[in-house]
Amino acid sequence: MGDRTRRWLPGLTALAAVGLAAFLNLLAPLDKAVLDAGTGWLERRVDSDVLVITIDARSLRALNRWPWSREVHARLIERLDAAQPRAVFVDVDFSVGSGDPAADAALARALQAPRDYPLILPAFWQNAGAPGAAGRVLTQPLPAFAENTHTGLVNIFPGAGGLVRDIVHRDRFGNRDYHSTGALLAGRTDLPPATALPIDFTISPGSFAYASYVDVLQGAVPAAAVRGKTVLVGASAVELGDNVPVPLHHTLPGVVLQALSYETLRQGVPVTVPWWGSALGLALWLAAWTLLLERGWRLQLVLCCAGVVTVLGLALLLQGRFGVLLPVGAPLVMIVISLLTGLVATADRQAVLALLARVRLVREQALISGVLRASIDGILVVDSDGRIRDANPASAALFGIDREALVGRSLASFLPALARTGGLTPGRRELRLTRGDAGCPVELSISPVEDAGGQLTVIVRDVTERQRQQALLRHQATHDPLTGLPNRTLLGRMLERLPKQGAAALFMLDLDGFKQVNDTLGHRAGDEVLRHLGRRLRESLPRDVRVFRIGGDEFAVLINGHQRRERLAALARSIVERVRAPVDCGDNQLELGASIGIALFPTHAGDGGGLLQCADVAMYTAKGQRTGVEFYDPAQDHSTVRNLTMTRALRGALAAGSLTLAYQPKIRLSDGVCTGVEALVRWTDPELGVVSPGEFVPLAETCDLIEPLTRFTLERALRDHARWCARGMDLELAVNLSARHLAQPAFADQLLALVDRHGIRPDQLELEITETALMDDPDRALRMLSKLTGRGIRLAMDDFGTGFSSLSYLKLLNLHALKIDRCFVQDLTRSASDRAIVASTISMAHGLSLQVVAEGIEENEQLEALAQMGCDLGQGYGIARPMSADDLIAWQQARPRSGGAVRRLRA
Ligand code: C2E
Ligand code: CA
Ligand code: CA
Repeated sequence: MGDRTRRWLPGLTALAAVGLAAFLNLLAPLDKAVLDAGTGWLERRVDSDVLVITIDARSLRALNRWPWSREVHARLIERLDAAQPRAVFVDVDFSVGSGDPAADAALARALQAPRDYPLILPAFWQNAGAPGAAGRVLTQPLPAFAENTHTGLVNIFPGAGGLVRDIVHRDRFGNRDYHSTGALLAGRTDLPPATALPIDFTISPGSFAYASYVDVLQGAVPAAAVRGKTVLVGASAVELGDNVPVPLHHTLPGVVLQALSYETLRQGVPVTVPWWGSALGLALWLAAWTLLLERGWRLQLVLCCAGVVTVLGLALLLQGRFGVLLPVGAPLVMIVISLLTGLVATADRQAVLALLARVRLVREQALISGVLRASIDGILVVDSDGRIRDANPASAALFGIDREALVGRSLASFLPALARTGGLTPGRRELRLTRGDAGCPVELSISPVEDAGGQLTVIVRDVTERQRQQALLRHQATHDPLTGLPNRTLLGRMLERLPKQGAAALFMLDLDGFKQVNDTLGHRAGDEVLRHLGRRLRESLPRDVRVFRIGGDEFAVLINGHQRRERLAALARSIVERVRAPVDCGDNQLELGASIGIALFPTHAGDGGGLLQCADVAMYTAKGQRTGVEFYDPAQDHSTVRNLTMTRALRGALAAGSLTLAYQPKIRLSDGVCTGVEALVRWTDPELGVVSPGEFVPLAETCDLIEPLTRFTLERALRDHARWCARGMDLELAVNLSARHLAQPAFADQLLALVDRHGIRPDQLELEITETALMDDPDRALRMLSKLTGRGIRLAMDDFGTGFSSLSYLKLLNLHALKIDRCFVQDLTRSASDRAIVASTISMAHGLSLQVVAEGIEENEQLEALAQMGCDLGQGYGIARPMSADDLIAWQQARPRSGGAVRRLRA
């Protein structure tokens, strides 16, 4: 059934029911019953001029016979004439002779007497012949009586229910109109013919004056009581049979009914609400009803009650106040039927909905119980006081007790900490579940059950495994898997938590030469060494001192609390000693050095990050100066304002091309011939002044400026070299290469392109690399460099002796020369061991067919000693300081062809 149809159906059904009831004439009794009830309510006394003279039991007794002689009536009329009433109606049948001609004559005389008020005698019609036969006959007073009187109809007909409610006031017989007695008395001859008009029973019969016939006849009633009155004379005695069934009063004497009919006309005849008024009301009802139908039966009931009250109230109001009669049957039937159909319709709908809801409920319940059974979590229903009401199978296993035994127990008896953690307040928390002697950590999720009088569901989940995993993850995140030591993350966290008022010292330890262990013995050996050293460090240090592994071969040591510098230095030195002790590694015994930088909190840095950085700087200083242990010294720190300023300035200088190159000659020690030059970059900043390449080259390496720097050096040096060639100077050109480039495979191609472009012979170009630069990633560097040496470019090992070169690499590198570091040359003439180192280096190099260059020759003795040892080339302030490209041309021209340098130094 469509929604629309269902909506309209109750209203339409009610309408049809009303139509049918009207058709079957079932509405009228209802109309009447309600009207009668209302009439009872509304009964009132009106200001009436009616005097009813009743032929009552007393009159009958007084005259002691019936019918009375017409002389009696004649006498009454004479009495009345004398009293001068407004009008008189005598309700006595004078249609046939009485059998007493003298009496009849006396009456006729009395009636014919002249009078100035209307005197009315009754007439009535009846059906002619058998009941149901057509045709009516009018029974009226004999002509002798009718002469000076009016004839008033007195017909009354009971309606539905056998009660008389209305009167036809005008009717036609032959070609003459007759009026009802009431109409004649009221002077209303204008009323519609053949139309029954209602009698207003709200007018109380008590409104009329009454007098007994015999009293009037005998003069007991004063003429004043009759004067000006509308007088109706008629029977009231029961035995005379002139009582009429009426609403409200059961019966009334016919004469009183006539009086009521007259008074009704005087007061105004009640009008019935026209059919369209009722129809409009019904339509309004239907609309309201249909609109509100969906709102459920309660509203329907309320609406119907309101409808009934309104209809009845309206009917009363209309009748009582305006004399308008409202037929209430139709609306009442309509309301009741629409209520019934509406209830049926909604009940039907609600029944279907209820059925669907039930089906859904059953399905949901099946699902829920399935979930409860299958869940591995314990699921409990708990009262508001914490007693377990129900539990799923998993709870039994979790609590280690039968399900039946679980019910009724207090939840808190299994979770001792429950009360402390907020009791049964909804939410989630982790607690410990006791189970006999043992127990396990559980997660508790408590949520209230809706509409269940404070009951709660409690989900209990065993989180043993989860906590174990979390602990493992936490440990893994903060510990080094190789040594088991805390890692950099944990160190960072502990440094963050350093107390503001406290003191602490941080050691940064870096192994010397560990790279070689990895490279020569393999990573597995390297790992073994680290594990071993880690254990050694942890075991050798006091408990309150914590050791961390924070990088490949970097360790950190954190000492909380204030310590004197000397004690810290002693501790650091002892650590270095512990590291130095030989480590067993397979068949080998290894000895490793270590450098430690120390930073103090809060003296050197006020936060963890700063402290780490300071310790790092100090460690590099210790490494660079090979002192083993160094405290942080701001003067050594490059990560300072000066460095930041310098970076910005260097970037500007590179962009502006304001760097220059200086060239330092190298001479052959055997004959003093200048065989080549080393290009050295120079920078004079307007603000910083002259900055040493020893300072800004490492800086450039850390901030991505090394590439433009190298490009500049190569371009400029190759250009200058081309100029010298043009002047017939045949010089080798040495250029320093940063460690960074060794890790860039593309660098080789870029450099070769430059060589091609500038037309230098590859064997005239020498690249100087340091041992340490090589050691970062030797294989990669080898690949890159072999591309260059493959094209004939030469390689020199710079600063030889300061790093940790392995001889095997020297071979693989395809080197051309070794440059003995300045520090060995410096004390050559004073230190026998330096002399030994230099001598063996030279012989070793020659063994490998390498040229040897000595750096930093400042004194003549050094030069001679080196020449004697067989060193091939020399370079140093004692020979020539670095100079510009032009100065170099002048310097070269000013020199004798050979042996000049040696001789001049000697001089
Ligand atoms: P290095 O390659 O060892 O260069 C030799 C350094 O020793 C130069 O210092 C030079 O001026 C200095 N020197 C030469 N003879 C003597 C002497 O008799 N006594 C003393 N005390 N020193 C002498 P400089 O020019 O300050 O360069 C320092 C370092 O800067 C160089 O050391 C080199 O590693 C780097 N460097 C210089 N120019 C460049 C460059 O263009 N590119 C790269 N990547 N590094 C460069
Ligand atoms: Ca060099
Ligand atoms: Ca050098």
